Amino acid sequence: MNNPVMNKLQQIAEENLLEIEQAKARGQAVVGFYCLYSPTEMAVAADAIPLPLCGTRNDPIAAAEEILPRNLCPLIKSSFGFAMTDTCPFFRASDIIIGDTTCDGKKKMFELLSRYKPTHVLQLPQNQDPKTALPAWRAELERFKTIIETHTGISLTKDRLRSAIRLMNRERAARKALMDVNKNKPAPLGGSQLLEIMFKVGFLANKETGISMMEKIVAEAENKAFRSELPGDKCKRILLTGVPVGVGSDKVVKIVEQSGADVVAFENCSGYKQAFTVDEDKDPLKALAAQYLATPCSVMSPNTGRFDLLREMIRDFSADGVIDLTWQACHTYNVEAYRVNEFVQETLGIPTLHLETDYSESDTGQLRVRIEAYLEML
Ligand code: SF4
Ligand code: SF4
Repeated sequence: MNNPVMNKLQQIAEENLLEIEQAKARGQAVVGFYCLYSPTEMAVAADAIPLPLCGTRNDPIAAAEEILPRNLCPLIKSSFGFAMTDTCPFFRASDIIIGDTTCDGKKKMFELLSRYKPTHVLQLPQNQDPKTALPAWRAELERFKTIIETHTGISLTKDRLRSAIRLMNRERAARKALMDVNKNKPAPLGGSQLLEIMFKVGFLANKETGISMMEKIVAEAENKAFRSELPGDKCKRILLTGVPVGVGSDKVVKIVEQSGADVVAFENCSGYKQAFTVDEDKDPLKALAAQYLATPCSVMSPNTGRFDLLREMIRDFSADGVIDLTWQACHTYNVEAYRVNEFVQETLGIPTLHLETDYSESDTGQLRVRIEAYLEML
């Protein structure tokens, strides 16, 4: 559907690379991030541009497989492939890279990635224990702060960090408001549209532009301006949980839509896991450490927060069904799928479908058959 706000977002997204280049020419730094656990506030506080670098496209995977094992998560191979083929303008623009010791594949990939860019890997604890893990993560953020200060020459005072937290809280609030429009029945935004908007906004150099675009979309979505035809009462509302998805790794979302259902919400780190607020009154490093460590990703053991979030989202988005997506060779999400199924199906009474796939189109037919049969059953 031809919508003026979406056209404007497209235009801004096309001009964004030039804006990043101009910012770099003025001396602004660019920091590439690979995971939700590292606070982008640290870059923003140093007037640097944070860019999300997790690969969502299949194209660079063949090149990555010359170095990395084939049976590795496609997100890791895509990310590495973009770097080694120098085909991601956002990786190219990044001066330094920040990674975290999340899953085994990713942390080992960073060792190789450091051949292409200065790479700093933060030692992420494997649980969220306030007595042991939190102080360790707080200390890592202290090290992260020093890395950014050394790179930019800007001292990250408490005032700078607080104002970055305020800005990023506003961005997260706008992102949450955007996702929350789909609590309405019928959903004003299709799942693919929502993904496209969040994906484009995520790369924008100017945070204020991104916030204002999301606010405009929310205002328009409430007037039902984004879909040529709103879904009828019988359209099933699906919540997608599990691994992150983006433009290029959205085949499951597309198949659900082509099969006549709606993906109304994303319980993953490219979606609702970003809908949090950092405490603006506490000591900034403490507040950042506490909030980011609480991210309910399967790399944490245990990962109880995911179940709370699922319960809340299934209720608030009136989900008829839950599709749990795992990228091939992602052991943490794959193992957790058993408990997700048990919790959602048996405790909440909502049927689930667990899918394991990669970024290629080779299993599209098979996925379609399974998704259609699942939707039939709802
Ligand atoms: S799935 Fe977990 S480890 Fe992977 S990028 Fe998202 S938050 Fe980080
Ligand atoms: S999807 Fe799984 S294997 Fe892939 S990067 Fe995230 S946690 Fe690691």
